[in-house]
Amino acid sequence: MALIVQKYGGTSVGDVDRIKNVARRVKETRDAGNQVIVVVSARSGVTNDLIARARALNPMPDEREMDMLLTVGEQETIALTAMALHALDVPAVSRTGAQAGILTDPEHTRARITSISGGDVKAQLDAGKVVILAGFQGQSADGQITTLGRGGSDLSAIAIAAALKADLCQICTDVDGVYTADPRLVPNATKLDEISYEEMLELASSGSKVMQNRAVEFAQKFNVIFEVRSSFNNNPGTIVKEEAASMEDVVVSGVALDKNQAKIVASDLPDRPGTAAKLFKALADANISVDMIVQNIGRDGKANMTFTVPREDIYRAEKVVTESFPDEASGKLFEANDIAKVSVVGVGMRSHSGVAAKLFDALAVASINIQLVSTSEIKISVGIDPKDAEEATRVVHTAFGLGQ
Ligand code: ADP
Ligand code: ASP
Ligand code: MG
Repeated sequence: MALIVQKYGGTSVGDVDRIKNVARRVKETRDAGNQVIVVVSARSGVTNDLIARARALNPMPDEREMDMLLTVGEQETIALTAMALHALDVPAVSRTGAQAGILTDPEHTRARITSISGGDVKAQLDAGKVVILAGFQGQSADGQITTLGRGGSDLSAIAIAAALKADLCQICTDVDGVYTADPRLVPNATKLDEISYEEMLELASSGSKVMQNRAVEFAQKFNVIFEVRSSFNNNPGTIVKEEAASMEDVVVSGVALDKNQAKIVASDLPDRPGTAAKLFKALADANISVDMIVQNIGRDGKANMTFTVPREDIYRAEKVVTESFPDEASGKLFEANDIAKVSVVGVGMRSHSGVAAKLFDALAVASINIQLVSTSEIKISVGIDPKDAEEATRVVHTAFGLGQ
């Protein structure tokens, strides 16, 4: 008998009919002689809606109360999924993150998992029940409800699969697998049969929301091989696993778009050693993750620093910049604008040259201006005007021959 973890995302449990569909699929899996743990998200839109309500009452809601609020979404779907299974005569029981012994640090809204005891999940499975686990949530050492960051149900699934040594972990969603680009944006994107953890992590961290980046990181660390597949058909999905030698033959395996970034220009900073250190240390201390950075050549003892941060951190970043250089503020110290980031990812970049040239050329031909560039061993990202974002994604996808 195999132990299978199946995670169903927000769209897959979006209404009563879809929950019935999930129940049928879980029943099929169990009838084939397997034990099944089902991890579910909140219905699509519910988490966003709860966040909007919180902000309508208070623009900076308390993070503990935020977690108390957001976990409601997943608690609805675990109970409904259990009821749908009961209606099919399948014994099933729901469990919250805390009941499954998912312990986290106390960092509300972005908690990290510290350990998983599993609670009575194994005993319930051995008693013949399907266990339905609330995604996205855990409990801190002092008993507070925590959440694992947006998209965190992916992490719940990978983590419970690792803790209970599941034979299979399936991330069931509203697309057939991981594609060479978001298929909603690039209609001729190709489904990948397999992809390495490292590439999946770079894609996820660069805006491909098909997997939460922390979930991929966890899977890589504990070597949990998982499959991203559809909740609505039985097509084979994409296997995410350790890098195989053959994967390096492919130079670029995917293109990602992140429209959730802001470009910040800190102007007229003192052009002397220590300025960048001071600025970026202050940003790091405020837990603001900076991605691309450009420093202009100084003039008259002043220089500009341009960098990108997640859009939701703009106001905090402004505070950090202005407070770090109180005497230099000349009225235009700080300026922020939306920026889109397009990234190409592939382990083959390690052994192939010319990737940046091809990327820049594709954008030049489409008359799309590049504002910022950053690179890593297996990724090149460019910052561009958000109005060009979709077109840029498509032309870059075509330039690397990724279309069907
Ligand atoms: P779930 O609610 O199941 O967690 P998400 O909405 O979080 O689903 O993630 C699935 C979505 O990710 C797809 O609908 C698709 O639009 C988007 N996506 C972005 N990049 C990719 C990609 N490279 N491959 C597949 N889907 C992608
Ligand atoms: N419901 C949570 C969110 O919207 C977790 C998830 O869907 O994975 O972020
Ligand atoms: Mg998701």
